[in-house]
Amino acid sequence: MQNICILCGTNNYAQKLYESNVRDEDLNERVFSARRLPDRLHGTILRCKKCGLVYASPLIDTATLADLYKTSAYTYSGEETYIKKTYARYLARLANELNVRKTPRTYLDIGCGNGFMLEAAKELGFQEVLGAEPSSHAIAQAADSVRGGIAQGMFSAELIGENRVDALTCFQTVDHITDPVAFVAECLRVLKPGGLALFINHNIGSFTARILGERCPMIDIEHTYLHTPQTMKILFEKEGFSDIRTFAVRNDYPIHYWAHLFPGPKKIKEPLISFLKKNVVGKIVIPLYAGNLGLIAQKPNL
Ligand SMILES: [Zn+2]
Repeated sequence: MQNICILCGTNNYAQKLYESNVRDEDLNERVFSARRLPDRLHGTILRCKKCGLVYASPLIDTATLADLYKTSAYTYSGEETYIKKTYARYLARLANELNVRKTPRTYLDIGCGNGFMLEAAKELGFQEVLGAEPSSHAIAQAADSVRGGIAQGMFSAELIGENRVDALTCFQTVDHITDPVAFVAECLRVLKPGGLALFINHNIGSFTARILGERCPMIDIEHTYLHTPQTMKILFEKEGFSDIRTFAVRNDYPIHYWAHLFPGPKKIKEPLISFLKKNVVGKIVIPLYAGNLGLIAQKPNL
């Protein structure tokens, strides 16, 4: 089925960016694991000329996706330290605004993987930390201190509870959701009035995305909708969030991880990455604004 722009509710402004290069046999667990090497597999990609949203059309059906994520292998390999540092810098803003050192607050990470951000939230002073994660393989790798707070399943208000949390985060997850409008509505339900949401995801309007075009790792079969700061703002306004702020995200990654993210043939990349991982040069941390956007929004107080 053809997909439409979920923000404008129509396909009237659709412009075809890229043709699909997917075959049926590509739909397996390996393709759907977190942060595998980008191999530039993607469906037909459209862009809405009115709002700027980029989206796959048709979408892979939700049931197939849920199944694939449930069984997907969890393949982070030591980069959590750097990812955690980047995300924690922005989570600290929420911690400050919610005054977590003085007031007991509950935190939720949606798509929490092995729960490394739950550990970060504890360090920042959140009293209770929760996670939602479909992959049992990921949950099995969580630290004992946080595993008990992780609910297994695709995120929903039913899974977590209504008016349950003061802060929620969604890191590199919204791009994978088949219905982001319903997803953001569920986020609003889960938050207490005055609670804050922090989203970090790809910015398809960024310089990196525009330069790389079809070779950009964002153009990927796992991504359903790709946002710009403007489309994220429209999405959150639509669902009733207030005080919406968007910003460019600074990633502090070592050179070997930047090498992993940049496009190129596997033949060259795999040996290069393993060389850099063993070499002191590969461990140098370089801060870059590499095409991620952040958003902080509030659930209105009653
Ligand atoms: Zn649109």
